[in-house]
Amino acid sequence: MIQASSRGSWPQAIQRRVAGFGRRAKNAIAPLVPLKLLIDSKQPGPLILFVHGIGKDKPFINSLYDSHSPESFVSMLDQLLRHMKPLEDLSLESIRNARSDQFIATFDDGLRSAYEYAAPVLEQRGIPAIFFINPGFFDDTNHFYRFEAGLLAHKIRALSHDQLAKLRHRLSAVVPDSVPMDQYVLSIKYVDRALLTQVADGLQVEMKAILEAEKPFMSVQQVKDLQARGFYLGAHSIDHPRFTDISEDEQVRQAVVSTREMVAKFSLPYRYFAFPFGSAGVKESFFNMTRDDIDVFFTTSGWKRPDIGGQVFHREALDAVGEPIRYLQRMLLLS
Ligand SMILES: [Zn+2]
Repeated sequence: MIQASSRGSWPQAIQRRVAGFGRRAKNAIAPLVPLKLLIDSKQPGPLILFVHGIGKDKPFINSLYDSHSPESFVSMLDQLLRHMKPLEDLSLESIRNARSDQFIATFDDGLRSAYEYAAPVLEQRGIPAIFFINPGFFDDTNHFYRFEAGLLAHKIRALSHDQLAKLRHRLSAVVPDSVPMDQYVLSIKYVDRALLTQVADGLQVEMKAILEAEKPFMSVQQVKDLQARGFYLGAHSIDHPRFTDISEDEQVRQAVVSTREMVAKFSLPYRYFAFPFGSAGVKESFFNMTRDDIDVFFTTSGWKRPDIGGQVFHREALDAVGEPIRYLQRMLLLS
């Protein structure tokens, strides 16, 4: 028996090693293969990149993801422009007919830093873009639970040992002993977001006042200004739940209501929607139920051809990518 099982495991182990070697070899040679050659051979469709905010100074974002500084954002765009052309017309028909050597810039969450830093840079370089907005966050009236979690994690990490022990004692009914407090806060799901208020009370942090003073989101007026300057707008759900954490009915409500609100508020002649956190947890029936309200969906699976009859476009995250060409060479070679 032992002999048979060890004989049987050899091919798999070898296969894994060969696959690992293949990945390492491809990673090593990726910078040597011109991006144009990879695009011509793979024909992945237009590169649809997405970025959130610009700037690393906000305590509520630092714990969640890396983001570009204004300088690294400019450098990333300029490197990209040397190899690819921006798609100039972002109408639905034009997006559907875009070539693989064209790119579309998109920005998620409607962050004020994208309005302040990204929009002028895009204009200077003649790059159109789509901004995906959560209407629930307009004018900082309803707070993003992930930003609350990020802010609280930041505050918790600054506590002394004694302060942390006191906080644990205060929240002993809520937070398991085995879990570091900052990790616990960052793991709180959308449906349990009321717990964030309990932690904030325990920490004596005025989350509402801090977020209202920081104003992380664009105002309606700023979004109108983007529109007047020729940028496109889309919806990004009402208040950014992770779709794996909510029912299908709620997924449909979040997508349809936010899209209708964006269309009505800005008189949009098109209906674009980008999934918050991507489309994991979404079934085919979701598309059947939202088809009458949404023209096209954007998700986060990388640089690849659109799915579902050209209705779902995939996007590549470039928030933390300083060398986009090397990154894209590797992505395409490994795909
Ligand atoms: Zn988002």
